[in-house]
Amino acid sequence: MQAEGRFTLDKSRAMFERIAKSIAGGESSYARLKKGLELCFDRGQGSRFWDVDGHEYIDYSLGYGPLIFGHNPPEVTAAVVEAITTRGSVATFPYDLDYEVGEQLVQMVPGVDQVRFANSGTEATMAAARLARAYTGRTKIVQMEGGYHGFSDTHYWSIHPDVYSDNPAPYSPEPRPSSRGIPPSYGEALLIAQYNDRENMEMLFDRYGDDIAAVLVEPIQANSGLIPPEPGYLEFLRDITRQHGALLIFDEVITGFRVAPGGAQELYGVIPDITTMAKALGGGFPIAAFGGSEEVMGLEARNEVMHGGTYTANLVALAAANVVLRIMRERREELWDRLNTYGARLCQGIGDACREAGLRNIVQGVGPIWHIFFAKPGAPDLDRIRNYRDALAYSSVEIFDRFHDQMLRRGVYFHPYHLERWFLSTAHDERDVQETLEAAAEAAEAVAA
Ligand code: PLP
Repeated sequence: MQAEGRFTLDKSRAMFERIAKSIAGGESSYARLKKGLELCFDRGQGSRFWDVDGHEYIDYSLGYGPLIFGHNPPEVTAAVVEAITTRGSVATFPYDLDYEVGEQLVQMVPGVDQVRFANSGTEATMAAARLARAYTGRTKIVQMEGGYHGFSDTHYWSIHPDVYSDNPAPYSPEPRPSSRGIPPSYGEALLIAQYNDRENMEMLFDRYGDDIAAVLVEPIQANSGLIPPEPGYLEFLRDITRQHGALLIFDEVITGFRVAPGGAQELYGVIPDITTMAKALGGGFPIAAFGGSEEVMGLEARNEVMHGGTYTANLVALAAANVVLRIMRERREELWDRLNTYGARLCQGIGDACREAGLRNIVQGVGPIWHIFFAKPGAPDLDRIRNYRDALAYSSVEIFDRFHDQMLRRGVYFHPYHLERWFLSTAHDERDVQETLEAAAEAAEAVAA
């Protein structure tokens, strides 16, 4: 742990200043940094990383989630090095790793009979939505307020509307663009729903049922903190989409290969028509995928629906995914026992430590992902957060920020935005858990003081 009082980020600041001269905003993805906390990375190993000032952190951000085995996992690194040194990096043609990874993936993910590879979750989700529209001949996709499916013009809508406002506009099924530059007409192809709210979804299908191509949902909403599905909610989504001839798309970019080897669909036993996957699939190397039944994927097979990309299924990505999936299949009991046990202890322990210090909070988790929502003054007396509107009404940005700062000083890093979840890897061990819980107790005391 870092000693309090001597915590400075001078080298990070100097490096960031230089980076920001040539890189717009100093980062190549919009949400990595927080103003005033421009940490620059030196190296990572296992559950930990070091910044350029030499501070060591237990990492619960894990590069936004791909590092399911931690930083620099030896078997994955070795497979990639071997692939690029003996075979190359990009293949013009199909090759053996296509079936090696494809067959494993199909075996692991219940809703996937056939798959296509992509480079990022953004791409996979765009491809899945296009496929659903082509299959049904309909236009509208329903997605959840507070969900995230990448930064594309077609999905970057109603992510966290009015998140910093004291007077948020009420929920509406009409989408709101989350960036400048998105053509308003794209919003006509979307409807916004409230996660975990059956009546709301029934209302949307009553009104727009004939136009709805698909419901696109993170089966566990992991982009507004961490919000598990209420009992029966995913089954309800399965039924209502089927009744109305719409498809159900699970965006398992976060949950896939994480909450269970076969993702949330394995954990909850609800099988979608199309699944998108990324992050953990590559163990830190850029790969994504989307897949579904042979019938739905037949449109791709016959090239009736266009999906492509120069780098899709490149050697680096497939060499990594091949080993990631093999390790998961061979060691599933041991790995998920570890993820679930440590995840539960951390989730519970952090919430308890904060409560004991007098910080009212709600902690929600599923296996290796969780989040702590701190109550703001006057927050409603909720027993759980069910959707973005609950998170908006309940969450204190200020207390979260102070807790984050105190944890950082004690060598524990998680994402600095109050609605991003914590990620655990299989590299985290007993020592990490103990140190994190000690840090949480001290940090909570410091915030409450
Ligand atoms: N879908 C979900 C649920 C995500 O959380 C993300 C990214 O965090 C994406 C899609 C987009 O993935 P990518 O950043 O790989 O484009």
